[in-house]
Amino acid sequence: MMKLLVVGSGLFGSVVARERALAGDQVTVIDKRPHLAGNIYTADVAGIPVHRYGAHIFHTNSPRVWQYVTQFAAFNRFTNQVLANYHGRLFNLPFNMNTFHQMWGVTTPAEAQAKIAAQQTAGASRRPANLEEQAIALVGRDIYQTLIKEYTAKQWGRDPVDLPAFIIRRLPVRFTYDNNYFNDRYQGIPVSGYTAIVEKMLALPTITVQLNTDFLADRGALTAAFDRIVYTGAIDGFFDYRFGTLAYRSLRFEDELLDIPNFQGSAVVNYTDRETPYTRIIEHKHFIFGGGNRRQTVITREYPAAWQPGAEPYYPVNDPANEALFQQYRTYAAAQAPQVIFGGRLGAYRYYNMDQVIAAALQVAHNEDLWRAQKV
Ligand code: FAD
Ligand code: UDP
Repeated sequence: MMKLLVVGSGLFGSVVARERALAGDQVTVIDKRPHLAGNIYTADVAGIPVHRYGAHIFHTNSPRVWQYVTQFAAFNRFTNQVLANYHGRLFNLPFNMNTFHQMWGVTTPAEAQAKIAAQQTAGASRRPANLEEQAIALVGRDIYQTLIKEYTAKQWGRDPVDLPAFIIRRLPVRFTYDNNYFNDRYQGIPVSGYTAIVEKMLALPTITVQLNTDFLADRGALTAAFDRIVYTGAIDGFFDYRFGTLAYRSLRFEDELLDIPNFQGSAVVNYTDRETPYTRIIEHKHFIFGGGNRRQTVITREYPAAWQPGAEPYYPVNDPANEALFQQYRTYAAAQAPQVIFGGRLGAYRYYNMDQVIAAALQVAHNEDLWRAQKV
């Protein structure tokens, strides 16, 4: 029986812990936070499940991932439909015929496509080199200026010309009147919150969980006590930033419990102007269709924040310089710490959604070659 230490009780660590326990390993999960579930942690506030680390909507195109996650929870039929507020004007997101109508008064797909074509930069490179070029190529200048440029600069603390194009490709562009924020086949919110999913995953007799335990504070003893380690914290932090720090973006969340039944009529409203210091307001009760509390509501303002060692690293910044630095850490890890498997949003330094994290964790957990290797 292999003794496995999983550092981090987020989705990646919890899926690997469960699958390895089912494969016969003795698993210990530690987390430095006082609660399970990492960034998908939800807590009850006045009867409303509050997403403590930002709004989390589960969506996937993978039948396998959907089947996997629905073992642990019943999901509702929530479909994310985001509004953007630009100086008091409301637009539907993602970019669709409603947005084009609100922006230009056009009513047909042909008119919308003509507007966008007229606003695309003449002679722009076929393969956009950065987020700004990509955005203008997809939706034209007006939408870029109103809904993307200032929001992106706030969110990332950088000009969109200094960000990779893939970030804006997360959002669909469609020429139908369809406000669904995602294109995936499956979507929903677990009706009892996300924390319950992780609790169920870890409820096996061969899994032990220890919260408030930082691996880095006791790494020598922990490394000696286990055959293998799965590490879901930041890979640069694991190696004491020996090659420098990878760039991350952090966030600050401000919650408010209000004595009104309905604050904004929608789960997510983005503020796309540069003057509003937060990027979005989440009203949690709308994820469960107003349920939980008829008199009150909980809202969360999400403020982007600079990251420095010690702050929570929420988003990796996958530009070429940081990708190169990450590869340096990976090469070093393979040579110097072969008994450690790095994974998850931080360990793999990837802008993963939850479904991608589950798919990656299942792949790691079921790769028997990886587990046959002996402790070095
Ligand atoms: P985490 O959840 O970050 O878990 C890592 C865990 O490791 C943490 O609990 C941390 O405390 C612990 N840890 C780190 N270092 C140590 C250490 N040294 N010792 C002990 N413990 C340690 N995805 C979607 O699919 N849909 C969404 O709508 C969505 N919205 C998001 C909104 C925001 C604001 C953010 C930031 C992310 C969002 N995501 C969304 C992505 C989603 O949160 C991640 O894909 C997923 O939670 C990552 O899981 P993880 O296990 O890799 O990391
Ligand atoms: N974005 C934007 N305006 C918006 C929403 C998103 O410009 O109103 C851009 C921004 O650069 C953001 C990216 O699109 O980082 C991806 O948005 P998503 O909603 O997927 O971000 P997440 O939920 O991961 O923070």
